[in-house]
Amino acid sequence: MRIDVVSIFPSYFDGLTLSLLGKARESGILDLRIHDLRDWTSDRHRTVDDTPYGGGAGMVMKPEPWALALDDLAAGSDRPTIIFPSPAGEVFHQTTARELSEREHLIIGCGRYEGIDERVFEYAASLGEVRLVSLGDYVLNGGEVAAMAMIEAVGRLIPGVVGNPDSLVEESHEDGLLEYPSYTKPSTWRDRAVPGVLLSGNHAAIAAWRREQQLARTESRRPDLLKD
Ligand code: SAM
Repeated sequence: MRIDVVSIFPSYFDGLTLSLLGKARESGILDLRIHDLRDWTSDRHRTVDDTPYGGGAGMVMKPEPWALALDDLAAGSDRPTIIFPSPAGEVFHQTTARELSEREHLIIGCGRYEGIDERVFEYAASLGEVRLVSLGDYVLNGGEVAAMAMIEAVGRLIPGVVGNPDSLVEESHEDGLLEYPSYTKPSTWRDRAVPGVLLSGNHAAIAAWRREQQLARTESRRPDLLKD
């Protein structure tokens, strides 16, 4: 999969050379390219923002650098999926990550200031499928942290990125429930014992216990998930 990220702070993404995603990049499973939006400006100050029409606080990202960046990055690609992190977008879920992990080419445009000139989203729709995606109901300073969260959630679903694919299946949100509790050695630690069923070797009983725990935990922590 190819992912292009456009940001005015490309060094935010330096951490994506580490761990599983770093290995996926080295092996070529993930072709992650980070770009500086200012490379598509033409003035001496490499300006990417201007004052908002209609007045108001803050600055808005100018449309032309974005259009030039998208033109370049979408060229030769068959309608890429163009994601703009936005607190005003659809909320990012595990199902979104799964859906996006099946795409061949994602372009992620990270906004800053008060956001990006609205016409950029219309323009982007002429080049690919546009998704405005929110990490949750709060406001970040920019799209970079949201983009990193999405890249990690999507990237680990690409076949070959996580060594044991079974570990993806049993995780929180994969079946609409939270994951069951996990324990490792020692079996008793600081007077706390691991639930006996996990030491029983009875796989059916372990599976039943885990399912009960998933339901109980989801009911107490995230009852909203059970409605679905
Ligand atoms: N004025 C915008 C609004 O009220 O919707 C918020 C702009 S925010 C300060 C700057 C940028 O941060 C946005 O363009 C977006 O890229 C990113 N951002 C902020 N909160 C986000 C969230 N919850 N999810 C995804 N991106 C977010």
